[in-house]
Amino acid sequence: MTKLKIGWVGLGTMGTPMARNLLRKGFSVYVYNRTREKEKILIELGAFSADNIQHLSQVCDMVVTMVTDDEAVEQVYNTSDGLLADPSPGILMIDMSTVSTKISKELARDCSDKGVHFLEAKVSGSGKLVEEGQLIIMAGGADEDYQKALPIFESLGKQSFLMGEVGIASAAKLCLNYFLALTFQGLAETVLFAQQEHIEKEAILNLINESPLASGVTRQKSQTILSNDFSPAFALKHITKDLRLAQKEGMTFPLFNPLLASYQSASQMGFAEDDAISIIRFLNKTVSDLKKP
Ligand code: NAP
Repeated sequence: MTKLKIGWVGLGTMGTPMARNLLRKGFSVYVYNRTREKEKILIELGAFSADNIQHLSQVCDMVVTMVTDDEAVEQVYNTSDGLLADPSPGILMIDMSTVSTKISKELARDCSDKGVHFLEAKVSGSGKLVEEGQLIIMAGGADEDYQKALPIFESLGKQSFLMGEVGIASAAKLCLNYFLALTFQGLAETVLFAQQEHIEKEAILNLINESPLASGVTRQKSQTILSNDFSPAFALKHITKDLRLAQKEGMTFPLFNPLLASYQSASQMGFAEDDAISIIRFLNKTVSDLKKP
């Protein structure tokens, strides 16, 4: 049987280990990254380097995109040398980036106009879960396309869900990331409050993680806080982007505006490129500054 040829655009924190998982599962993987040096690690593992983005939509059976935001997706698909410039008819494009419902629906329409199939497939999970192929995947689009993409989803994730039409999975991802942003902020405020009450951060994090409050997120981010290594598994600028997308969707619940303001200020104060749990360093600094005479 001929191996499926998968094109992959975007080799960042998520894209690199995800594409590596496809290589490990035996797919032919063609990679393209804007900063081309980042392809080297995958080429050493057997991936092919695409001549350019268009090349992917001409030689591959499916192309996956995993880039930053709406703007990046727009550039990758819709510029004169983008994926939709001259695609093979019938090819399947799958966007896994966290973007707005609006751009997802526009992409679906643009793809359809070019005779290209399109799925949105949003992912929950980072770091270790990506390495272990344990992501949760939320897809939107036609069932026929979802069935075609299943071999990829099964290699990347432990479970995938077809949620409905394009747009619904992007919306579900924004819902999950609202909860994630609340969890990071809640964990950070709790640790800082505990320290104010003369409880060591090790002690309070241990209590949280042994209690019914524990989750994969609290356990993972406790390690980040205790190691003091805030290199990004999920950059603070990305969760700020996701909250802004939620705002555009009309999110107005009481905690939302202060939460967005907190992440926006943290981004502006130099924590944008660090892991999102750096919100604790921002809050610590803000509280310390307030206490200064
Ligand atoms: P990242 O490390 O910042 O990587 C972003 C990727 O997008 C890089 O390959 C970058 O290329 C590329 N890119 C950005 N702008 C571009 C443009 N205009 N044209 C072409 N390529 C462009 O981000 P990440 O953490 O992998 O996240 C990728 C997406 O997944 C984001 O939407 C994020 O919200 C979402 N997500 C992340 C996580 C997580 O835990 N990290 C989990 C779930 C979903 P360069 O290398 O040239 O900069």
